[in-house]
Amino acid sequence: MKENEFYMMEVYKSKTNFKNIIFLIFLLVVIIVSAYLGIRYAKKQQNSQSTPIQNSDNSDNDEIITDDNNNSIVQEELPKNRIPIVTEEAKENVKKIYSSTSDAKRVFLTFDDGPSSNITPLILDVLKQNDIKATFFTLGSRVIQNPQIVKRAYEEGHYIANHGYTHVYSTIYASEESLLDEYNRTEEAIRNAIEVPEYSSHLFRFPGGSVGGQYNSVKKVYTKVLDENDILYVDWNCLNEDSTGKRTKEQLVQYIKDTSKNKNSVVVLMHDAGDKVLTYETLQEVIDYFRANEYTFYNFYDIIDYELK
Ligand SMILES: [Zn+2]
Repeated sequence: MKENEFYMMEVYKSKTNFKNIIFLIFLLVVIIVSAYLGIRYAKKQQNSQSTPIQNSDNSDNDEIITDDNNNSIVQEELPKNRIPIVTEEAKENVKKIYSSTSDAKRVFLTFDDGPSSNITPLILDVLKQNDIKATFFTLGSRVIQNPQIVKRAYEEGHYIANHGYTHVYSTIYASEESLLDEYNRTEEAIRNAIEVPEYSSHLFRFPGGSVGGQYNSVKKVYTKVLDENDILYVDWNCLNEDSTGKRTKEQLVQYIKDTSKNKNSVVVLMHDAGDKVLTYETLQEVIDYFRANEYTFYNFYDIIDYELK
């Protein structure tokens, strides 16, 4: 081979290599751009599905659609998280919770002092079988012990509310700061349990109730503090007395009947702490009683606005 030919071949080779490299870079750019556009499209689709819908029925998360042969198939939507929002209307609704706005009877089943690893899941099972959404006033100290149960309750449509962290009156009612501290620690525990960083319950129940008892005068001050912080609070107007001494099943049910009598809007106080076996065992009878008396079951999502995220 002549010197000149050899030189030409080298030039040709290096030109070919250069072309290959350019082609590879071009291919890489095409792949990256396609991947980017793909992700953007997927995100857009996801966002368009999470447009806030206020007060929709959360039990219907499955959408029935039909395939090409017209057979109905169930397509599961992406899960949506309910984030409570405090509006003026929500404040009024909670304030006037014991007076129903219509003749229709309604009942809120509420459970305090949980979650417990043994009783709360059983209560959740009964509620699920009856397709009832309830409200749980959880204790922060117990939420951190049983986060998966709180998550289950939340995902099954129940309202997860706040009952403070310790339930020790002398601690929670020691000062304004300690009240808010217990409230905030419990909110944090709930957020971590349900894995929804934006969640804020905005709903508190005073351990022992908002009136009466040794701390009555400070509790009055604290209700204003809660107001200023957009935290709603609620007591009850019906109970099964499951926190008082030894009761029989019959007594628990009888207490419910007695204390709900002639009331159109009923907020039932019950407990789902670890020793409330009778509350679980009588729950079906309590539900049947309200059903037989034409009550509709409500939870706080029915009177507090929320957005879906
Ligand atoms: Zn309590």
